[in-house]
Amino acid sequence: MKVYISSDMEGSTGIVSPEQVMFGKPEYEFGRRMQLHDTLAAVNAALSWGADTVTVNDSHDRMINLDVSLFPREVSLITGSPKILGMVEGVSEHDAAIFIGYHAMAGTEKAVLDHTYSTKVVYGLKVNGIKLGETGLNALFSGALGVPVSMVSGDTAVCLEASSLLGETLITCPLKDGLGRNAAVTRSPEESAELISESVKRALEAAAAGRSPVLKMEAPYKTELTFHTTAQADAAGLVPGSERMSGRTMVFTTEDIFEIRRWCSSSIDCASIVGY
Ligand SMILES: [Zn+2]
Repeated sequence: MKVYISSDMEGSTGIVSPEQVMFGKPEYEFGRRMQLHDTLAAVNAALSWGADTVTVNDSHDRMINLDVSLFPREVSLITGSPKILGMVEGVSEHDAAIFIGYHAMAGTEKAVLDHTYSTKVVYGLKVNGIKLGETGLNALFSGALGVPVSMVSGDTAVCLEASSLLGETLITCPLKDGLGRNAAVTRSPEESAELISESVKRALEAAAAGRSPVLKMEAPYKTELTFHTTAQADAAGLVPGSERMSGRTMVFTTEDIFEIRRWCSSSIDCASIVGY
């Protein structure tokens, strides 16, 4: 079995604050360490379960957080950015995808560092009327390439979000309970490593048996992106194919599911350059 791991940072064990996930901040090294901790727990579980190959995609911010020198030899690391498919770059031709260190969509209560790609820019995202965060959108791209999502780890909120979208056959692994956006009750690293290991093995059993969920939607894909300000929506209007739906919401319709990724990424980048 070929296993793919998309590794974000915010949902990792012990992480609660922007200071811990932003490059250049004093606590960033703690964030890196915990992302690596959770990712290696998943990698080692997949290898001991009997995976033939494991591909890890560094999916956080600049995507150069994971130190490849600390990885086992059987693992390939996708590192750096930009990447056309971003958090699921290289997912095609794998048998199961695992999302590690994920976080809930923007606007979720009691969810650690809830956001959708950009805290300062994105208020909400929908595809064909369904609210999606990063978990949903990355599951949609994986599904379009025929790859099931077999497991999601992060806080309790992202696990609930993932289960409600992907169904009960998804294995989830909650590692902390959010008390708010920047506070949580977290498991110890030792306990979370055990939980991740057990969950990965159950997830790969489910994938091997064809039980892991594959998210599909019918074309055409109508994507709505709502910004925090009208100025951000004005700037996003520069992206080809955008239509203004309302003051703060732009809409884009396509038959090609991967154009959603290009459009969202370009729109968020344009919107990010305007001030408040
Ligand atoms: Zn991240």
